[in-house]
Amino acid sequence: MFSRMNGFDFDVAIIGGGSGGYAAARTAAGAGLNTVVIEGGKEIGGLCILRGCMPTKALLYAADVIHLARHANTWGIRASEVSFDFAQVMARKNTMIEEFADDRVRELTSGKFKFIRAHARFVDPHTLALSNGETLTAGNFVISTGSVVSQPPFPQLEQTGYLTSDDALTLVEAPKSLIVLGGGAVAVEFAQFFARFDTKVTMVQRSQHILRDFDTDAAAELEKVFRRDGITVFTGTKLVDARREGNLKEVTFEHNGNTTRVAAEEILFALGRTPNTAGLQLEKAGVTTDGPRIATNPQMQTSAPHIYAAGDCTGPHEIVHIAVQQGEIAAHNIAHPGRTRHIDYRLLTQVVFTDPQIGMVGLTEKEARARNVPWLAATYPFNDHGKSLIMDARDGFVKLLADPKTGEILGGCCVGPMGGELIHEIIAAMARRMTVHELAAMPHYHPTLAEIWTYPAEALAGQIRVEQNL
Ligand SMILES: Cc1cc2nc3c(=O)[nH]c(=O)nc-3n(C[C@H](O)[C@H](O)[C@H](O)COP(=O)(O)OP(=O)(O)OC[C@H]3O[C@@H](n4cnc5c(N)ncnc54)[C@H](O)[C@@H]3O)c2cc1C
Repeated sequence: MFSRMNGFDFDVAIIGGGSGGYAAARTAAGAGLNTVVIEGGKEIGGLCILRGCMPTKALLYAADVIHLARHANTWGIRASEVSFDFAQVMARKNTMIEEFADDRVRELTSGKFKFIRAHARFVDPHTLALSNGETLTAGNFVISTGSVVSQPPFPQLEQTGYLTSDDALTLVEAPKSLIVLGGGAVAVEFAQFFARFDTKVTMVQRSQHILRDFDTDAAAELEKVFRRDGITVFTGTKLVDARREGNLKEVTFEHNGNTTRVAAEEILFALGRTPNTAGLQLEKAGVTTDGPRIATNPQMQTSAPHIYAAGDCTGPHEIVHIAVQQGEIAAHNIAHPGRTRHIDYRLLTQVVFTDPQIGMVGLTEKEARARNVPWLAATYPFNDHGKSLIMDARDGFVKLLADPKTGEILGGCCVGPMGGELIHEIIAAMARRMTVHELAAMPHYHPTLAEIWTYPAEALAGQIRVEQNL
């Protein structure tokens, strides 16, 4: 059926044609390996394009537009009757996604590698059984099967019914009221999107703050904006029950020692995703897992040395550029076993596309404290910065973390206008291991949002120079 090479049908078989899988396929085929991608989804595109990054960002941009239109008066512009057609907002998003997915289809079917539509599972360490009845063998594998929405924490929630992020993206009408369970990036982005399209939103989060991976000051700033915009935010809660109450759905939780109930037309379940590894029969291939997550070393190799994994199925960060990097590293290491590469999370970047946006790279103060890493930090607020005042974007701040001895930039955080774009200056600086002295000396055009970085850089440069001179 397949032309056999080195005793196998393919040099590399890649399971899953999402962001991680496509990156692995492109790299493997580019290195001259006989490569096959097996994609089992109903639609081609992967999570990022179909139901993740791209549709949510398309919606959040629409939320920014309506927010600006409603506040146009600030700049002396009269837009007194701002209204919206929710179905049309969703339809534009759908059109964009179709275009992005078409591009991915073209890439996957470009002929650089073989592309098969089927579900795959292992029958032995070198053989896959496909749902179309075929089997294929390969010398190496990259598993990139993504993630699935996690199971709800208690059965009452299942009985009450809820929307997942997938469901929320298919609505043609916004619910009048919504309870968002969770406080991660997906939860806060949907919370603000719906709130800006006039849904009454209540967030219920277990941790003491929303966005628990971020520094408390960043999370607190977003909570402040959410509350000011009319979103009710409960943090430090413990969910205990859910039920239907007439036409509404009610959630009960413990909060500050009290039992609290909130009711809304809909519940959005945004309590996370789980690696999608259940149906792969990994045990037949000798691949071990850490819970549902495929365990890998920094070379992206699993416990079976010829099998690699990339993306959400291995984690630990569900971020698309990480999935891409992991896929590229896996394929590179298969092609070049003599000069292997490894994944490095020093420049780990996270962006939350709310308004204000949050961009973060490298070390956080929370992490520095937990790992006992010495650091100095300086911040500067957007409500004292020329360009952001022109834009009336007064919320948020930038923060830099530096090594107290050398001044090397260890981390950065930007809560503010275009925070997801602005953080890239610090990613570039950190990639070149720049110091705060070098960043402060670098030219910054005036008046730009980006020049705000010079203030914390100068503050830290001054401090570190003083300490070095003692
Ligand atoms: C609402 C939401 C918003 C997000 N926003 C962002 C964002 O703004 N920025 C960001 O960086 N990340 C974001 N993410 C996360 C990002 O989408 C994922 O980290 C990324 O898409 C994972 O890529 P992947 O290749 O690992 O998995 P996927 O893209 O899910 O690809 C896995 C593929 O494997 C296929 N598959 C599964 N099992 C099998 C099998 N047995 N056989 C054959 N094929 C199989 C699936 O059909 C799928 O196409 C978001 C996620 C969500 C849910």
